[in-house]
Amino acid sequence: MTRVPLFIGSEVYRGSSYGAWHPLAIPRVPTVMDLTRALGWLPAAQYVTSPRARPAALTAFHTPAYIAALQAAERDGGVSAAVRDRHHLGTHSNPVYPEMFRRPATAAGGSILAAELLRGGGVVYNPGGGTHHGLPDRANGFCYLNDPVLGMLALRAQGIRRIAYVDLDAHHCDGVAARFAGDPEVLMISVHEDRRWPFTGALEDRAGGAGLNLPVPRGLNDTEMRAIVDALILPAVAGFRPEALVVQCGADALEEDPLSRLALSNGALWRAVAALVPLAPRVLVLGGGGYNPWSVARAWAGVWATLAGHAVPDRLPPEAEAVLRGLSWTRQRHRPRPEAWFTTVADRPREGPVRAEIRDRLAVLVPRRPRRRAAS
Ligand SMILES: [Zn+2]
Repeated sequence: MTRVPLFIGSEVYRGSSYGAWHPLAIPRVPTVMDLTRALGWLPAAQYVTSPRARPAALTAFHTPAYIAALQAAERDGGVSAAVRDRHHLGTHSNPVYPEMFRRPATAAGGSILAAELLRGGGVVYNPGGGTHHGLPDRANGFCYLNDPVLGMLALRAQGIRRIAYVDLDAHHCDGVAARFAGDPEVLMISVHEDRRWPFTGALEDRAGGAGLNLPVPRGLNDTEMRAIVDALILPAVAGFRPEALVVQCGADALEEDPLSRLALSNGALWRAVAALVPLAPRVLVLGGGGYNPWSVARAWAGVWATLAGHAVPDRLPPEAEAVLRGLSWTRQRHRPRPEAWFTTVADRPREGPVRAEIRDRLAVLVPRRPRRRAAS
């Protein structure tokens, strides 16, 4: 691949909050942009401003009634009880907030644009994307729209048929599965915490033949993730021979995340991304969950370093450190903030034993992975 990787961002994320008490009160994409710029990793030539998707483009997956309700909620700053019940807007999870249409429509516009940018091949990163819970007619799990689905449908619209989707978020990708279950030209692989919301994606759920679901126990460590990547994810994707690969890189499987109980270091994500990229001619890497502002920013900056070929320094230069020191967080305010959150990007590895549950579940899934097709 000769063309350089591209980073899709937007200022719409800056200053945007789901509300003071919501897990998405924190800045994420702006911090990644500031941190990667402070490190000299984000030259103007590799930065693309995300367009906002038009309502008509969103109806490739979402219902017109829902899109209209979402726009009206942003315009009116509120919803009726009927809209709340029907579209799950104005709930604790999916609150009314000032950019509640513009922001997700920008994330979706980024993933749709990425599909166009990837026409001839390449690597595109849209860290504002990865909203994998969005459903056709309602918001779900902090996701108002489903940009992974819209990006994959935009790839399809260009005639790209075989798409692999790998989801490393701590939560199951129920919205993506709702669209692509049973699709013989999609391979969906999701690794997610067992017995956690949305409680879908069981080991036995094959998504109509299109999915491999691996629920993992609390405390998932780097050694276990490496075993999962090497034994299951890489051979499955390689065997599928995708024309395009979408990787959802939620940062909520990291140890410091407040919403889940997995224990990865950010290096486990970077290693997975690095190994996946060579397996398809077109690769779209998305963000996703992630609710500790420091661990999200460091993880996603490192994903970009991985894609763009930058070495991660042991200690951050002062300008980059200042970005991380400038963050605040209302949660866990009585716990000490480790110095490494401000002075480094790479976590210490979190190795451990590969537990029997992991080995047993891999033994179930590995025989289900697609067989390598003959090169054609
Ligand atoms: Zn998540």
